[in-house]
Amino acid sequence: MTTTAFTKKALGVESPEPAVTPPPATPSTTFVKKPKPPSRKSRKRDIPEGLWTKCPKCATMVFDKELDENLKVCSQCQHHFPIGARERIHSLVETCTFEEMDADMTSVDVLSFTGVASYTSKLEDYQKSTGLKDAVITGVGNIGEHRVGLGVMDFAFLGGSMGSVVGEKLTRLIEKATEKTLPLIIISTSGGARMYEGMFSLMQMAKTCAALAYHAKARLAYISVLTNPDYAGVMASYASVGDLIIAEPGAMIGFAGPRVIKDTTQAELPPGFQTAEFLLDHGLIDAIVNRKEMKARLIEYLNFLSNGQK
Ligand SMILES: [Zn+2]
Repeated sequence: MTTTAFTKKALGVESPEPAVTPPPATPSTTFVKKPKPPSRKSRKRDIPEGLWTKCPKCATMVFDKELDENLKVCSQCQHHFPIGARERIHSLVETCTFEEMDADMTSVDVLSFTGVASYTSKLEDYQKSTGLKDAVITGVGNIGEHRVGLGVMDFAFLGGSMGSVVGEKLTRLIEKATEKTLPLIIISTSGGARMYEGMFSLMQMAKTCAALAYHAKARLAYISVLTNPDYAGVMASYASVGDLIIAEPGAMIGFAGPRVIKDTTQAELPPGFQTAEFLLDHGLIDAIVNRKEMKARLIEYLNFLSNGQK
């Protein structure tokens, strides 16, 4: 069997260039340290999971460890990969200063939602896979010298959708910040309101905004940070009413998605539509900040805003 296969190959090589010695075909020694990036066929099977990630923007294979060290930003093209809420809090808050609020609050299946899977089982699945109870973590912590109310959403939990828990946790955070006269930072990423909770999800838009109005009345600063993607009910409520609205590079931000708008208006959309860069040019957001500079810039803004108050 093997001999026949070998002769066939040898014949094929021989005809164009007869005198060539066949290459030794030894695996290159340079790959010993790092695992080999995946080749064409069945990538998922070939490489152990969680070693390499292909950057969707520049197509470079990025070593996962380097990606983690770089706060999930591609070192080649600065593409911002999604980052978990806990990891993000860790990158912003001073060590051991974060006090989480309402950590065990979970959603209830008020509508007895039935679909392919029940809402309750969906929630359980996501709680298992993300280690979170719902799509937002809230609490009070120190960023630089500033004590701040901080809410961070996680897209990995049901698309960062806003149900009653997200709304309630954020509202309690905002009210706590008002009560303790603290500035507020909400880092959002969301596909919008959570359809499994119907009207209860939509009510969160008014609730969070009302709490923010009291926070603003107390002349306290609110910085909204928009990360990829940020859409619908969240963008139409607390995410877009910050005193300062900043975004990460390349974040997609809007109310309805571009395809829906294109189909509705039947008009060609301008290039870069709904990207953070486009919205900066059109005045919806105030700045675009790279994730690695986020902490320093937030401290700068907090210094500025708190000085203004005095
Ligand atoms: Zn890249």
